[in-house]
Amino acid sequence: MKKNFLFVILIFISLQIVAQTKVVLKLDDISAQNGECKSLPVMTYLLKRNVKASYGVIANRLDGSAKSLLNDIISAVDNQGNRMVEIWNHGLNHSKNGDVFEFKNSTFNEQLQHLDSAHFLVQKDLGVSMTTFGAPYNATDSVCLRVINEHKNYKKIFFSSVKVEFETNFERLNNNVPMEIETGKPDFDFFIKSYNKYPAYLSSNIILQGHPPYWTDEGFAEFKKILDFLDSKKCIYVLPATL
Ligand SMILES: [Zn+2]
Repeated sequence: MKKNFLFVILIFISLQIVAQTKVVLKLDDISAQNGECKSLPVMTYLLKRNVKASYGVIANRLDGSAKSLLNDIISAVDNQGNRMVEIWNHGLNHSKNGDVFEFKNSTFNEQLQHLDSAHFLVQKDLGVSMTTFGAPYNATDSVCLRVINEHKNYKKIFFSSVKVEFETNFERLNNNVPMEIETGKPDFDFFIKSYNKYPAYLSSNIILQGHPPYWTDEGFAEFKKILDFLDSKKCIYVLPATL
């Protein structure tokens, strides 16, 4: 009888764990140069709140001051020693010229050069070897996926549904649940609509994209409301690398 009871409890606990939605915070357009990082208040707040978050760095918007600015953020760990923050590759310069993006409608060599240079600069300026990629404007093509595939470091890619013929050795993270009503404007009501729109995602993971360098105080407050809501749903925050 006692054994059966324990068994039921165990099943109950495992179901609870399975039901928890994993949340990846995909926070874009991070720069750290001339001793300034506009996203630092958001980063600091998330750490204080014990929320794991991933940051897409634009590599040519880093300089020699980046490491000291972001060192405490990047090296933060939870009480089990797991890292709280992941830095990912958000391109070299975030360029867009008509229909030509860094990772869409440009040549293989151009894309490879941008990926490699960004990788090198982030290693140099932040001491981080990135393993996740998310294109500026989420603009990708099959050439981009070939470039990512051939780069040994990259195991995860955000928001790309481009179909390719070849076998890929990276995982796509595509469960986009928008929280910004327009770029740089988190909006709680808009997020709730997105959240309810994709019930199938909730049993696995959801990706929330934001642009903290452009958030106003109002936008930041909306973001905090979104986190409160996710807490009420018992969601857990994970990094793309560990998803
Ligand atoms: Zn961006």
